[in-house]
Amino acid sequence: MSSSATPAWYDAGRQHVWLPYTQMKTAAPALPVVRAEGVRLQLADGRQLIDGISSWWSVVHGYRHPHIEQAVRAQLETLPHVMLGGLAHEQAYTLATRLAALLPDPLNHVFFTDSGSVGVEVAMKMATQYWLNAGKRRTRFVCFRGGYHGDTFATMSVCDPDEGMHSLFKGSLIEQVVVDLPRSDEAAAALESMIAREADSIAAIIVEPLVQGAGGMVFHDAAVLERLQRVARTHDLLLIFDEVFVGLGRLGGMFACAMTGVVPDIVVLSKALTGGTLPLAATIASRRVYDGFLSDRGDAALMHGPTYMGNALACAAANASLDLFEREPRLERAQAIGRQLEQALAPARAIPGVVDVRTRGAIGVIQLDRAVPGERVTRFAAERGVWLRPFRDIVYTTPPLIIGEDDLAQVAEVAVAAVREIAG
Ligand SMILES: *Cc1c(COP(=O)(O)O)cnc(C)c1O
Repeated sequence: MSSSATPAWYDAGRQHVWLPYTQMKTAAPALPVVRAEGVRLQLADGRQLIDGISSWWSVVHGYRHPHIEQAVRAQLETLPHVMLGGLAHEQAYTLATRLAALLPDPLNHVFFTDSGSVGVEVAMKMATQYWLNAGKRRTRFVCFRGGYHGDTFATMSVCDPDEGMHSLFKGSLIEQVVVDLPRSDEAAAALESMIAREADSIAAIIVEPLVQGAGGMVFHDAAVLERLQRVARTHDLLLIFDEVFVGLGRLGGMFACAMTGVVPDIVVLSKALTGGTLPLAATIASRRVYDGFLSDRGDAALMHGPTYMGNALACAAANASLDLFEREPRLERAQAIGRQLEQALAPARAIPGVVDVRTRGAIGVIQLDRAVPGERVTRFAAERGVWLRPFRDIVYTTPPLIIGEDDLAQVAEVAVAAVREIAG
């Protein structure tokens, strides 16, 4: 893109903005976006792209849904933000009440933060301090190959240590107990005997239920979670579900824990919580975990409190997002998206180099036998009016849950064509 076609703010800012997961020396330039509405991004040069990714899986109701926009605007005019230490406001209290009502029963106590990583940090701190409050030093975590839980230091320690984005930091992180997901009863038995030796030092098991997202959109079924729950119960470990990706509609139900009936001790929500409008995360604990912090001693209190926790604009957006899940057939649409993707991506199975094509909820994945040349696919798709951003060995789509059939057909067609292009 020549600089004459780009806005001045872009040409100036490019010298200063450091991009995520990006080799700044060689990366293709980011595309300037000037507006968004529904499923469409409008670029500075006038082109429109259908967003097949939902801005890292967050924009479930599409961009600028009028109901969310109105709620945030009204909140801006009364109370954009106030500290949650010692002061209360309606949006955070209402959101906590609603999340507690929506989640399976013992998950009733909501701690707000502002990103998925920090939400997981808080879950890890809750689990660690829960045991400290009980006079036990249980500070390590059982986590899984292929897992991803965030980019901060504690969360990096529970990501897959070898694959993925953090292998460089291996020596600098707390060493956790990294194992394979127990996909069979035999694997569960092996996991259990391994844990039996170490249980005194382990605080919790942490898992992304049903889909390992950033690890490559790898699926597992409810039986895996049932096995983990059994192991956790046998050895009195806490169980943490990181639903930052799968929670709030992506799988065609509200939460993986509700869909599977496997109820953990702590759940983390973030990406879709505000419908992709503002940053917000919620770490929700069971009554048992919460009760472990009730004491006459001050130092048993949960030692965490981000400046912007429970931000009123973000909570207003989240409440409006929950309204939309109640009022509009969002979950039905997510399921229909999955059915359409199943059909529309199927032709990719015949392309050489494709090892798997799979869908779950509103997630569609084409997996190759090698790393995908991401920038090539992104450019190919953008030239055809679709925004895709592959990673690892997959070309995938997680569209907004409001996407219409024709737009989804275009996303799927372009994804398949892009795979054909790089295979040929
Ligand atoms: C994205 C993600 C996170 C991290 O969330 P951020 O908001 O990027 O910090 C944690 N866990 C899972 C499962 C995620 O998909």
